[in-house]
Amino acid sequence: MQPILQRLTAIRQSLPDTVKLIAVSKQVDAATVRLAYEAGVRDFGESRIQETADKQAQLADLPDITWHLIGHLQSNKVTKALEMFQWIHSVDSLKLAQRLDQAAQGLALPPKVCLQVKILPDPNKFGWTVPELWNDLPALDQCQHLDIQGLMAIPPYDLADAETRKVFEQTRDLAAEIRQKPWMHLKMQHLSMGMSDDYPLAIQAGSTMVRVGRTLFGDRS
Ligand SMILES: *Cc1c(COP(=O)(O)O)cnc(C)c1O
Repeated sequence: MQPILQRLTAIRQSLPDTVKLIAVSKQVDAATVRLAYEAGVRDFGESRIQETADKQAQLADLPDITWHLIGHLQSNKVTKALEMFQWIHSVDSLKLAQRLDQAAQGLALPPKVCLQVKILPDPNKFGWTVPELWNDLPALDQCQHLDIQGLMAIPPYDLADAETRKVFEQTRDLAAEIRQKPWMHLKMQHLSMGMSDDYPLAIQAGSTMVRVGRTLFGDRS
């Protein structure tokens, strides 16, 4: 494959200024993360606590990385996650949100979080269905120690492009609908949508954060 800088440049050229690129570095070693850093990446996405802890130890000399948790978080790892990540995209239940809210009390900076929604039923994924989310939004609005920034969506992987696009558009419309409600704490200004195979569709639908792994780092083993 081409060097990371070339791939990064190609991806960057396809992103509007309003869209943040999150380099998904799960299963990518610390030395490669360092190369991406040297090429200018400051936002990295990881899905596992222990893997991230190991990598952060090796990258401790790089002070200005923003780490994004994009994988399911178990309730018993909430405190660790808050120490390691500035963003948690994968808040996927009220119980987890409330645990995080409790653990975030007293932090200087509230963690930025997204609520993971399943627009289509998907037994392989965590997250709220739309009716479940509406049901829990009043309680989520009470999580005052969280900085609730928006929604995260992962379409089922086997959809046709038109269906994938629809999932992204419905996520965008859901965020807009929530913004109309008097829940001041639910900002809904960010949409974490789009991965290697579908990020151009996500951007067309209004994504503000794309989570790109393989296109940047190559296939994972
Ligand atoms: C692995 C992963 C990505 C990146 O996927 P690629 O296909 O490698 O771009 C993005 N988001 C989540 C939630 C992931 O688990």
